Amino acid sequence: MGAGFGGIKTAKLLKPLQRRGLIELALVDRRDYFLFTPLLPELIFGRLRSDEVAIPLVSLLDKRTTFYHQEIIAVDLERRQVRLKKTILTFDILVIATGAKADIFFPAESSRIYKFQDIDDALRLSDKIEKALLLASQESDEQRRRQLLSFAVLGAGPTGVELAAHIQEQLLNQQKHFLSAGSHLRDNEFSVKLISRGQEILASFPAWMRAEARKCFDKIGVEIIFNSLAESLSPRGIVLQNGQEIMAENIIWAAGLKAQTPEFLGNQPVAVNGRLEITPELLMKGHRNVLCLGDSSCLLVNGGPLPGLAQVANQQAVVAARNIEALVLNKPLRPFVYKHRGEFLTLGKKSALGNLWGWHLRSRLARIFWALIYCIKVPSLKTKRRLPRYL
Ligand SMILES: Cc1cc2nc3c(=O)[nH]c(=O)nc-3n(C[C@H](O)[C@H](O)[C@H](O)COP(=O)(O)OP(=O)(O)OC[C@H]3O[C@@H](n4cnc5c(N)ncnc54)[C@H](O)[C@@H]3O)c2cc1C
Repeated sequence: MGAGFGGIKTAKLLKPLQRRGLIELALVDRRDYFLFTPLLPELIFGRLRSDEVAIPLVSLLDKRTTFYHQEIIAVDLERRQVRLKKTILTFDILVIATGAKADIFFPAESSRIYKFQDIDDALRLSDKIEKALLLASQESDEQRRRQLLSFAVLGAGPTGVELAAHIQEQLLNQQKHFLSAGSHLRDNEFSVKLISRGQEILASFPAWMRAEARKCFDKIGVEIIFNSLAESLSPRGIVLQNGQEIMAENIIWAAGLKAQTPEFLGNQPVAVNGRLEITPELLMKGHRNVLCLGDSSCLLVNGGPLPGLAQVANQQAVVAARNIEALVLNKPLRPFVYKHRGEFLTLGKKSALGNLWGWHLRSRLARIFWALIYCIKVPSLKTKRRLPRYL
C-alpha cells in the first residue's frame, strides 16, 4: 500500500521473487504517479515541469505487478483484506508505506493555508505569488500592498527553510514585471517570515548548515521569528501563543505531518503522529505478516523515532524486500540499521548547502552536487535530462 519512496522501491526489489513465480504483487495508490518530493520546490521557479517531478507509475512498474489506482478505505488485519474504493484485495503479506500528510492545527481555517506536499500545492503557491504581485500593483494604499505581499512559512525544518528562500527569491525576481509605469507597486514591498517554534531553525541538521542558512536569510532578507508557536489565525495573519500577531496574508504550512494509517487501520496502537510502531525487522507490532516503513512507521532508535526522510524509506525498502523473501522462504528476518548519508538544502535557484560524505558544500558547488546526485536518483530519463541545466 502506497507507491511513494518506500512502496515503489520495495515493489522494484521484489521483481526476482515475482519472476520466480513465488509471489503475486499488487500495488495500491490514490495517485497514478510517483512524486519525487525533493524536486517539488523547483516548481515554484518553473525550472522543472510538473511531469518531471511526478513520474507516471506505469513507467516504473514491472508488467507482472497489478496496480490499483484507488483510495485505501480500510484494512482488516484478521481477515487479511484491504478494502479499496471499488475492490477488495486479500493478502498473505501486507506492506504499509502510505507516508504522511500535513497535520494542520487549525482545521476550520485550513482553506486559508497553503500546504506543500503535492504538485497541485506547488502550482497553487506559485500562482499565488504571481497573483499577490498583480493585486498589489493595482492597489494604491501602501499598507494594503504590504499586507497583500506578506508571506509567512510555519515550521523551520528543511521544507519550511527551502520554501521561505524560494518564495523570497521568486518575489524578488517576479516583482520587476510589476514595477512598470502605472503600477502602484514599489521596490521590495513584500515580506517573508519564517516561524520557528524553537530557538533554532533546521533542528536536525548539523550546526554549520544551520549557521549558513541563517546567514543566507540575513542576506536575502527573510525574517526568522524564533520561539513562536502559532495558536490561531486572525483576519490579518497568525496569532502566536504569547498573544503577538504576525501580519501574513499568505500562510504556508511546513509545521508537521501525520501518518495516514489510523484512517484505514482503525484503533491499532500508534506512536507519535499516527505512525505505527514497528520492530527492527520492520514488522507491525504483533503482526508477523504486516510490514510498515517510511513516514507511516515509527522505529525507535536511541529513544527517538527515525526522521521522515526519503532516504529512510529507501533504505527500509531494501530490508523490507529481503524480509518478505525470508517470510516466503521461511528464513530468519534481518533487522534494519539506518545509515544517514547526509543532506541537501536548496536556498534559491543557484544556491544550496550540502553535507555529503563529511564534505561541507556551499552555494553554487552545492547546487551542482545536488543536481548530480538527483540526476542519479530520480527514476525518470526525462527529468535526468533537465537536471544538468543547474550545472
Ligand atoms: C516538499 C518536500 C520535500 C522533501 N524533500 C526531501 C529531501 O530532500 N530528502 C529526503 O530524504 N526527504 C525529503 N522529503 C520527505 C520525503 O518525501 C518523505 O520522507 C518520503 O516521501 C517518505 O516516503 P514514504 O514511502 O513513506 O511515503 P510517500 O513517499 O509519501 O508515499 C506514500 C504514498 O501513499 C499514498 N497513499 C497514502 N494514503 C493513501 C490511501 N489512503 N489510499 C491510497 N494511497 C495512499 C500516497 O498517495 C503516496 O503516493 C520531502 C518532503 C516534502 C513534502
